[in-house]
Amino acid sequence: MSKHNGFINFASELPPAEPVADRIKHSKEFTSSYPTQKIVNQASRCMDCGVPFCHNGCPLGNIIPEFNDAVYRQDWLDAYNILSLTNNFPEFTGRICPAPCESSCVLGINQNPVVIEAIEKHIIENAFNQGYVKAQIPENRTTYKVAVIGSGPAGLAAAAELNQLGHNVVVFEKNKKIGGLLRYGIPDFKLEKEIIDRRIALLQEEGIVFNCETLVGKNVLIDDLMRDYDAIVLCGGCEEPRDLVLSGRMLHGVHFAMDYLIQHNKIIGNESFTQAPITAKNKNVIIIGSGDTASDCIGTANRQGAKSIVQIGLSAKPPLTRTADMLWPTDPKLYKVTSSHEEGCERKWELLTKGFMGDTSGNLTGVVVNDVQWDYLNKKAQFVEKLNSEKIILCDLAIIAVGFSNPIFEGMLEDCGVELNALGNIQTNALNYQTSIPKIFAAGDMRRGQSLVVWAIKEGRDCALAVNKFLSEIK
Ligand SMILES: Cc1cc2nc3c(=O)[nH]c(=O)nc-3n(C[C@H](O)[C@H](O)[C@H](O)COP(=O)(O)OP(=O)(O)OC[C@H]3O[C@@H](n4cnc5c(N)ncnc54)[C@H](O)[C@@H]3O)c2cc1C
Repeated sequence: MSKHNGFINFASELPPAEPVADRIKHSKEFTSSYPTQKIVNQASRCMDCGVPFCHNGCPLGNIIPEFNDAVYRQDWLDAYNILSLTNNFPEFTGRICPAPCESSCVLGINQNPVVIEAIEKHIIENAFNQGYVKAQIPENRTTYKVAVIGSGPAGLAAAAELNQLGHNVVVFEKNKKIGGLLRYGIPDFKLEKEIIDRRIALLQEEGIVFNCETLVGKNVLIDDLMRDYDAIVLCGGCEEPRDLVLSGRMLHGVHFAMDYLIQHNKIIGNESFTQAPITAKNKNVIIIGSGDTASDCIGTANRQGAKSIVQIGLSAKPPLTRTADMLWPTDPKLYKVTSSHEEGCERKWELLTKGFMGDTSGNLTGVVVNDVQWDYLNKKAQFVEKLNSEKIILCDLAIIAVGFSNPIFEGMLEDCGVELNALGNIQTNALNYQTSIPKIFAAGDMRRGQSLVVWAIKEGRDCALAVNKFLSEIK
């Protein structure tokens, strides 16, 4: 690192964000970029540690001190080249990654860590603006054909890498547009869809073929793909939502988070849909769940003009700082205030949802909850319901955002007969992403269960190498 005392001279600083009152009037991104000197100062806070724990904290193994140094030297091309060595899509992770790298930054032991994610976004956006990001068209092509099912970050990363290796890649996607949860789950205020389109245009120019509105298992059969392709990569995500099978679940006004978010994303993307519209406008809304999906529902409901929003979670409120069982450099589970929380909602913890109440017309009027208390029993966190604590929280829209259990089995997985693990995700050889059927590989949420974009990219990249090895050994 060219500079060694940036962390003494400069406090950590994020780029400015639009005030809440303004940003909830639209669905666009609301953080601006740093002026050049500010980003240089932020990069100079990196200590270029002898053992850079951030490398390990990042699932992709991003070479963070080196790109920080390049930013400090204002060698933007070098910074981009270093970043793109390990990450196919820094424009996604630079916006929406929870940044486990920052949790393992050594500076984070007693100061705010280096703002690695914001630096990553700056490097890649600058690279696009300067014209450094160009389609890399492979010079030589093999005769091998690979079908990638699913166009989320795992499928896109696998396709990008296999294409660079010269193979002929076709991506099959059931939705109208490419991107998986990047497009239909994550709202525009976190990731505008033009950012995805910009990357897809490059991947197309590089030679990848995208077949949209093609549900494998229905519009195209797995047997056909087995016949026509040399390898198949399953990247269909973990799409089965966890339900709350409780009394009143079928009342009008109780919905899964993804049904709600997909619709809103389609509205913003000018796509039509056939289901009855779900809107939070002028409604008292309850969001059940405490993860990223729940947070995205809060941001969406605020933009739709909800009257009130209450988020309820079963877990206890997480601690504000690391505890003895979350020591540095692990990625701790701390209390998090997301940009959507900042925009307004009441947060309630340790509440078990017991059922949904409705009126005589079948419309939701409230959610029935019980207080719980968490304890460690036999070294395992378990809750007990508190006696006589049942109450009703009034609402006219309840969104269930309690996670996803497994990939959809009917259709493609049922037909291809790959082995599943105990959780219902695809079982693969831990080393090479190969399923129980040698020609079929799997990566991303479909293999590891619901996870993160950064893990999906990592799995797609590693899986591509495994497929390449498999192809190179075909007699
Ligand atoms: C609302 C929400 C918000 C999130 N926010 C964040 C965040 O801020 N940061 C973060 O890191 N992670 C976030 N995540 C998690 C992240 O989006 C996922 O871990 C990641 O997208 C998984 O990538 P994937 O490629 O494995 O699957 P997906 O993104 O789910 O893509 C799978 C694709 O496969 C397609 N498909 C499935 N079956 C078939 C078939 N039979 N034929 C054709 N196509 C098929 C689907 O249509 C889909 O496009 C969020 C998740 C949700 C639900």
